[in-house]
Amino acid sequence: MLAYTYVSKGKFSLLEKPKPELLEEKDAIVKVELASICTSDLHIRHGAVPRAVPGITVGHEMVGIVEAVGAGVMKVKPGDRVAVNVETFCGKCFFCQKGYVNNCTDPNGGWALGCRIDGGQAEYVRVPYADQGLTVIPAGVSFDQALLVGDVLATGFWAVRISEIQPEDTVLILGAGPTGICTLLCARLKNPKQVLICEKDGDRLAFVREYYPDVTVVTPEELPETVHRLCPHGGADVVLEAAGAEGTFEMAWKYARPNAVVTIIALYEEAQVLPLPQMYGKNLTFKTGGVDGCDCEEILSLIAEGRLDTQPLITHTYPLARIEEAYELFENKRDHVMKIAVKCQPENEVPKENAGCSTANA
Ligand SMILES: [Zn+2]
Ligand SMILES: [Zn+2]
Repeated sequence: MLAYTYVSKGKFSLLEKPKPELLEEKDAIVKVELASICTSDLHIRHGAVPRAVPGITVGHEMVGIVEAVGAGVMKVKPGDRVAVNVETFCGKCFFCQKGYVNNCTDPNGGWALGCRIDGGQAEYVRVPYADQGLTVIPAGVSFDQALLVGDVLATGFWAVRISEIQPEDTVLILGAGPTGICTLLCARLKNPKQVLICEKDGDRLAFVREYYPDVTVVTPEELPETVHRLCPHGGADVVLEAAGAEGTFEMAWKYARPNAVVTIIALYEEAQVLPLPQMYGKNLTFKTGGVDGCDCEEILSLIAEGRLDTQPLITHTYPLARIEEAYELFENKRDHVMKIAVKCQPENEVPKENAGCSTANA
């Protein structure tokens, strides 16, 4: 089968590999229908993820059909349509029991798929601890609708869950890329008083204006004046930093009001400075880190109910055979790209570009 592979720092290649087999009794093999490309894949290629193991198949955001399960798998069976969770977790250890599945202490736990073990930009993927790592997609929810559930949407959902958003709050989101938009979608479920999203890219600002007209869109230059005008207590009540760009960490704490919650979702490629003397007395609460992706069932229910819809984000579709082109487009942010769906089964090799942007909400 074809598998997009992390060969060495700076190099990914589409290689022929053997189809994966069940190794443990809690494994499942999933026939991948759609996989997505994530900024974290680019971080791996740039060598910014030291844990990533050369030789592995990349890809950690995918949906498909269960092909086989080990004897210890109880919740899913062959033929089930499933969303794959970015995280592998045992469900039993101290951290899993508390819902901190990103910190699962199992040797295979945490972000393994497409990082330390073979992931899903391939025709098939082996998913360890399949009862935790797979979520059945409800009838009536398409693969397109479910594609982002296991990673980027789970990230936004988790970030909002820990951010303590109240109905009277002004929420400021930094970054209107896929993670920022998923965070925005989940923040709106909390019905805050207003949501501001800050982004410098004109295409992304236009995307938010088109699909989410209730949200106040600002550029970094407009941010000081907008926060001053709309936030009576000197800043936003909750800030979610999803940009991870130069200067955005500083913006996150600067435009938070005293005693605000500041949640850092972004994965920075460089260390950030926390200038405690400058923020002394501001008494901020910082929350940081990687997604605890244990809410996929709830997220899929919200999609089935029509309360969450990430389809506008999928702006391009490519067959696996042309994944190199998809990466080039994604990395260079060409052609208004937000997210790319990669069709991983050979019979589906019909390119369908620009599918989502103007039609998905029609
Ligand atoms: Zn990701
Ligand atoms: Zn665990």
